Amino acid sequence: MSTSGNRSLKIVIIGPPGSGKGTQARLLAARLGVPHISVGALLRAEIVAGSPLGERVDGAVAAGELVADADIATVLREALQSAAARDGWILDGAPRTEAQAAALAPLLESHDSHAALVIALEAPEEELRSRLLDRARVEDRVDDTPSVISHRLVVWAEESRPILARYEERGMLVRVDGTGDVEAIAARVLDAVDAAFAPRERDRRAGA
Ligand code: AMP
Repeated sequence: MSTSGNRSLKIVIIGPPGSGKGTQARLLAARLGVPHISVGALLRAEIVAGSPLGERVDGAVAAGELVADADIATVLREALQSAAARDGWILDGAPRTEAQAAALAPLLESHDSHAALVIALEAPEEELRSRLLDRARVEDRVDDTPSVISHRLVVWAEESRPILARYEERGMLVRVDGTGDVEAIAARVLDAVDAAFAPRERDRRAGA
């Protein structure tokens, strides 16, 4: 596909808990041959490792609260500056606040905007809730309990969803229907990536 030749793809997959952003980010990263960076997975790894950062964020993650922006900045800096991420990445789980979006702006909103895209996965709340409860049976996440799920959905709506406007204003946002099965959603995501990058790549080559 046209996007696979792009040297520096930066794609953020954003969406409420249960929207499938982790699954879709993993599939897209494999397809495009760039690393998948999951902030939630990195935080859970820090918690399991018992690192100072892990100890700091443990309570917030378990309660479905947002981790402090400074700790997210630390995790992101390491992941995005790694050698593996030099030629692009698929980021899932951040930004979740205006401050995080501002911190990512030099990477995402720089002159090289040809290669940056934010994909918003959308699904109705009832579907999100039932997916998360299903996941609780197979994955062992402390935050997939009914009350923490409800809280995470509120946190998404109040603190994270508003940042979509930022990317919409900049013409960087694509909304993708996140309902249905994994393969169908993956196909829509790929179509969105192709549709967004093909014209930009043409413009870039033409020196626009
Ligand atoms: P996720 O795996 O994306 O569902 O994230 C799991 C949990 O990690 C969230 O409920 C938050 O507690 C924390 N977390 C992940 N990403 C962020 C972020 N960008 N900002 C603040 N907290 C985060």
